[in-house]
Parts: sequence; structure tokens; C-alpha cells
Amino acid sequence: MNDIINLVNESEKEIKVELENIDNIVFLNSRKVLDAFQKENVSEYHFNSTTGYGYNDIGRDVIEKVYSDIFKSEDALVRGQFISGTHALTVSLFGILRPNDIMLSISGTPYDTLHEVIGIKDNPSSLKSFNVKYEEIDLIDNDFDYDKIINRVSKNDIKIIYIQRSKGYSTRKSIDIEKLEKVIKEIRKVNTSATVMVDNCYCEFVTTKEPIEVGADVCIGSLIKNLGGGIAPNGAYVVGRKDLIELISERLTAPGEGKEVGPTLNMNKPLLHGLALAPSVVGSALKTAILTSFVMEKLGYQVEPKYNEKRVDIVENIIFNNKDDLIKYTQGIQMGSLIDSNAIPEPSDMPGYDDKVIMASGAFTQGSSIELSCDGPIRPPYIAYQQGGLTYEYGKLGLIRAIYEIKNK
Ligand SMILES: *Cc1c(COP(=O)(O)O)cnc(C)c1O
Repeated sequence: MNDIINLVNESEKEIKVELENIDNIVFLNSRKVLDAFQKENVSEYHFNSTTGYGYNDIGRDVIEKVYSDIFKSEDALVRGQFISGTHALTVSLFGILRPNDIMLSISGTPYDTLHEVIGIKDNPSSLKSFNVKYEEIDLIDNDFDYDKIINRVSKNDIKIIYIQRSKGYSTRKSIDIEKLEKVIKEIRKVNTSATVMVDNCYCEFVTTKEPIEVGADVCIGSLIKNLGGGIAPNGAYVVGRKDLIELISERLTAPGEGKEVGPTLNMNKPLLHGLALAPSVVGSALKTAILTSFVMEKLGYQVEPKYNEKRVDIVENIIFNNKDDLIKYTQGIQMGSLIDSNAIPEPSDMPGYDDKVIMASGAFTQGSSIELSCDGPIRPPYIAYQQGGLTYEYGKLGLIRAIYEIKNK
């Protein structure tokens, strides 16, 4: 174990500049959060919460105002009634789309758990079963296929243009805010009617600009990822145009009730607490990813992104090209976790995923991936998708343990 600790400590010295760059982003995003808390006058009484219908929940209202400030959006829906990011994306799609509408994904096939939602994989409750049409345009060379997109959207018959930023279980690169800005600008030259919807999972606070600021109409993410700061016990957020937030809230609750209901069941404080810590926790996750990238490349593995590449999300890929190393590494991440360190993850079938998946998540919150976690579908080229780290030090310790497992198999 000591030789691995030495290797990691020595490596750390060589990536000083990259690690320090993260501190500046953490500072700017912390200022954004602090400004929003102060502008909305977040107070101790906002920690109180409601039960039952959840009428007049001032804590819930202030959280949604704070989210709107941070994202520079007209409105927000931040709720524990969203089970997950997938659920928030689902409610948003069903809230906006009507029979015979067309949804067009311009970032290729969406995340695995959305396949049954859209109807890419058959399900009697999919959008397709309601006669919502789906089309997609693949990325080319990790960028948007502008010719195809402009040609398709200029007919002005598309209801939702869907963009997923983080790569999910694919091998493409994630989509940075500059590319997002450019494609929305180009789309708007020929199409002003479609709703641009962005899946922002894993990208929040990685840089200092978010999708609404570059023209997205609605933007969605999970609270057991970046913005929950490791404290939020569940939930997701949707931010964007007021009319869209209204449609989505009426699908989440009931037509006529919308945002006015939704008990917070003692969640207001952890949501605010988590958001306050989120810039710094995302910073720890980014530093863990940079260290992992540098060390694993040094050990001869292919990694994406490289340690000195610009980052769009908190995910680090290690491409093992070998099933055994993927499994050992993932098991090592579990063994290096704060919670359930004696559990040994095995590849298994997961609802919503096509291949068997191995998942390490020794987390306070079930399935939380802002906490150090690692997962990968069992298919070539056997890629580990690692993310999170509540603190950089726990991230580093997890990495050390994972390397030990592949070295000592
Ligand atoms: C995690 C993720 C989702 C789904 O989030 P869950 O909370 O796990 O349902 C959707 N899209 C992307 C890109 C993700 O990374």
C-alpha cells in the first residue's frame, strides 16, 4: 500500500496548477450562492417545513427563488417529490409534449434510463405510447452536426430540442457551455418556436456559467449529484421559463395545483445546506477526477478527460479494455468508501439499463454520485465512470484503495 500512497503523493505535486485552478471556480460559484442567499434573505425560519398538501411553504418558495437567482432563470421547481434526475426529465418531457409533437435529440441517444421514457425501448407508458414522435441527430467528432440540425429545425415543426451535456454511458466527450451557446444561437436564427431542453446532470458548478444563461429554455438536474452537495437526501431541480415551469409543475402535482402544493417534510434545511456546500463539494469531486486521471494514465490506462483537459462535468473515465480490472477497480472504490466498505459490488441487472452494470456507491444517500462512486456497464471497452468525492482527501483515499485492488488481484 505504501508504494501506492507514495505514487499518488508524488503525482499530486505534478498537478498543482490544475488543482489550484479549481479553487478559483469554487470561489466564484460560492459567491454566486452567497449572493443568492443574501438577496432572498434566507433565514432560520425557512428551515421550517410543511406536511400534507404543503400550502404556504415559505422555505420551499425561497429555495426556488435561490435556484432561479443562481441559474438566472425566470422560475424554478426544486422538489423532493422528484425521485431522481430521470424522474425530473420524465415529468418535464410529459409536461411539455402533447400527442403528435416531435422531440428531437441533437446530442445523440439520451442516457440509458430515458430509453423507456421516450420509447426507444418499448414500454406501454412511454411518450411513444402517447404518440409523441422522437428523432435524433448524432454528434460528429464530439460536436453538433450543424448542417443536419439547421436543416431539420428550420421546418419549425419541433416541440422540444433536447440536449444532454454529460456523456452518460457513452464514449463521446461531454458538451461544454460554449458549444451549447453556439448551437442554441444557430438554432434561433432559423427556429424561434422549439423549446430547448438541457439535461445538465453532473455539470452544475463545474464552470461558472449555466445553460439558461446561454439561451436554454429549461434545464434539469439531480440533487443527489452536484447541487445537493452530498447533503440533500433526494430530489431534483428544473429551472427555466415561467410558462414551462408551470406546465411541468402541473404534471408533477395536478393540473390546477402546480407549484402551490408539495410538502417539504423537513427537507428545506438539507436542501439549502447542500446547496451552500455544493461549489466546494463539486470542487473536491473535480480535484479527485484530475488526480485519478493523472495517476491512472501514469499507470498505463487510457483516461478521458486527461488531467489537464478542460472539464465539463465531474465524471472521469478510465478505459480498462479488460473486464477484470474494471471489476477490481470498482470494488476497490467501494472498499475505500465511508459507508458499506465491506460490501463487494458485483455486475448485475439494473432497472433502466441494457447491459449488466457494476456500481460502487458507499454513500450516505443511496445512489448518490456526488459522493465518491464508480460504475460501468459490463461491455467492451470496459469503461469505469468515476465521479464524486465529498472531500478531496476521501477521493484520494478511494483512488489509492482502488489501485491497490487492481495491483493485488
Ligand atoms: C445521472 C444522469 C441522469 C439521471 O439521473 P438519475 O438521478 O440517476 O435518475 C440523466 N442524465 C445524465 C446525463 C446523468 O448523468
